[in-house]
Amino acid sequence: MSDVSGSELRALMARVPSVEKVMASAEFAALLAEYGRTQVLGAVREALDRWRAGAQSGDASVSALDVARLKSAVEAALRQRNESRLRSVFNLTGTVLHTNLGRALLPDEAVQAVMKALTQPANLEFDLSTGKRGDRDDLIDELICELTGAEAATVVNNNAAAVLLTLSALASKKEVIVSRGELVEIGGAFRIPDIMSRAGAKLREVGTTNRTHLKDYEEAIGPQTALLMKVHASNYAISGFTKEVGLDEIAPLAHARGLAVAVDLGSGTLVDLSQWGLPRETTVRETVEAGADLVTFSGDKLLGGPQAGLIVGRRDLIAKIKKHPLKRALRVGKLTLAALEPVLQLYRAPERLTERLTTLRLLTRAADDIRIAAERVQPALQHAVGERYAVTAEPMFSQIGSGALPVDVLPSYGLVVRMADGKRGGRQLLALEKMLREMARPVIGRIADDALRLDLRCLEAADEAHLIEQLKGARA
Ligand SMILES: *Cc1c(COP(=O)(O)O)cnc(C)c1O
Repeated sequence: MSDVSGSELRALMARVPSVEKVMASAEFAALLAEYGRTQVLGAVREALDRWRAGAQSGDASVSALDVARLKSAVEAALRQRNESRLRSVFNLTGTVLHTNLGRALLPDEAVQAVMKALTQPANLEFDLSTGKRGDRDDLIDELICELTGAEAATVVNNNAAAVLLTLSALASKKEVIVSRGELVEIGGAFRIPDIMSRAGAKLREVGTTNRTHLKDYEEAIGPQTALLMKVHASNYAISGFTKEVGLDEIAPLAHARGLAVAVDLGSGTLVDLSQWGLPRETTVRETVEAGADLVTFSGDKLLGGPQAGLIVGRRDLIAKIKKHPLKRALRVGKLTLAALEPVLQLYRAPERLTERLTTLRLLTRAADDIRIAAERVQPALQHAVGERYAVTAEPMFSQIGSGALPVDVLPSYGLVVRMADGKRGGRQLLALEKMLREMARPVIGRIADDALRLDLRCLEAADEAHLIEQLKGARA
């Protein structure tokens, strides 16, 4: 800080170009063409205000302001302001379906369909055979029924919406029986008891946390009962002395009493994952066949599609759900439907799924293939982090994510960064994690056991080349 004398300040101020002159200058013509007058004018005024405030406070770094310097300041400000806040990242967390990183990545077929839906009018709610108004569910419900064996289907914004709508339409002011072992909380405020009360239904808990018997359900059924419900314990496992009542027992009980069973499957896979060596999950079709009257599941978890909530089941119940006013509020847009249809179509050729469905391709990627990728990326990462850190390619375990099969892990490979001197380096590792996270395309890993770990399962070829290039241009 040095004091600018009064006369110096006045001299500097006198030389500041007027806003009109700046806006009319040749230097600003390109900026005006790109950003428009309103934004440029605002940015110019801000830059001038900043400059004046600096000059008045006697900031030594403030010197005479000319149009060229003003232009570079304004251009930088406008570029930063107009940068998209939603940015592509490298998901090297090892969690394939990472909720905070956008869950499932869509296959090409879905991307093409979304592009079309974005730029061309479509028969979203228009029946092309009659020329009359149509129903957007008609575009996709047959396909969903074909793949799940259900009688009818509908689609809403996400699975939380699917559960809320189902309960609102079928159990408002009535009781829903749920085992205490299934009162789950999914990340981000989805809790079965809360959803239940939002839907105006009364939760009737039965059994205990670890053990629930068929007779617990039996004894809880009364005149107020609307539904028996089962919820997939997505993100936890109860082990030890446990007893859960299967759908094969609950469904006959419910049906004998004239009641329906709803199952919140959470991830809801359409194929038996164990055929590819992945942990087994009950499929939607198996759930329908075991007697569920309604099944709800997510579109962007194991299904590998866009964010959506699918409801499948008995025709009369789906019809009731579709008539509820909340259906209109929770309905999906055309982009979702456009993306969902081609994803579902891929399931018609299950033998090609691991190649064509991105989520499944990532989940089934062989550890050996990931190891080779890790060895290719290692030199670039070592270069980027510098000699204070040591980068090695090591085996590790990926997770499926999104509450699917929480206890299972997939053998994977990745890069592990430790302090080269063998110290623990808590602060330095945090600094490194931050540096990677602040790159042009942020690199998201995780710190565990005194090391920064980058699991390369989700780094496919094009991204690998991009990452290597980005790392080569960086230096800690
Ligand atoms: C994930 C999950 C939900 C919420 O699904 P969203 O599609 O994220 O809304 C609900 N129930 C269960 C059991 C889940 O696993």
